[in-house]
Amino acid sequence: MAATRILIVEDEEALGTLLEYNLGKEKFAVTLAHDGEDAMLKIEEQTPDLVILDWMLPKVSGIEVCRRIRAKPETKNLPIIMLTARSEEADRIRGLETGADDYLTKPFSNNELVARVRAVLRRIRPGLVEDKVMVGDIEVDRVSHRVTRGAKEIHMGPTEFRLLDHLIQHPGRVFSREQLLNAVWGSDVFVEVRTVDVHIGRLRKALNKFKQGDPIRTVRSAGYALDAE
Ligand code: CA
Repeated sequence: MAATRILIVEDEEALGTLLEYNLGKEKFAVTLAHDGEDAMLKIEEQTPDLVILDWMLPKVSGIEVCRRIRAKPETKNLPIIMLTARSEEADRIRGLETGADDYLTKPFSNNELVARVRAVLRRIRPGLVEDKVMVGDIEVDRVSHRVTRGAKEIHMGPTEFRLLDHLIQHPGRVFSREQLLNAVWGSDVFVEVRTVDVHIGRLRKALNKFKQGDPIRTVRSAGYALDAE
């Protein structure tokens, strides 16, 4: 499995570099952004698996970045941990209302940060840290490469399995064909974009073999998403 990607948004350069180093040691793939605008651009370029977001940022504030992330259908479920130097309870609540998944008050230890990152990922993106992931009635077992829906085993090809494994890590999120190509086939392989449609079609057929409903949503001119019931 590819490394979990974390975007750190922090304008204090020394702290940003320290967090990057510490999370890198834990085998996370870390990217740094120094302000809110930079963060939005980087998220658009390549959506990370989790964002560590400083509250006080130049240009666009952390809260505003959080709102923008939540406002876009492609990133509305993106896990966010907010960092703040303030400790007032009111701010804490405001941060959570804005849609942050967790909250850390500076200063914090590296162990604390790593524990929070793992806890948030386990809660929101179990697909990244668990061997088995379940969304609605669909379960993917990464170890045995088995897929079940309800109590029934579903058979599919290796490409369909990888597609499903990717989609199930981000329930509800819409992926463009290009994003699915990069995630499933890799960006160094030349595959026609239409190939994605073919394999999505096969995956749909496999998942709906027992007429349990089509869990894959086609978003016109945008791409595909796996919906959780
Ligand atoms: Ca700051």
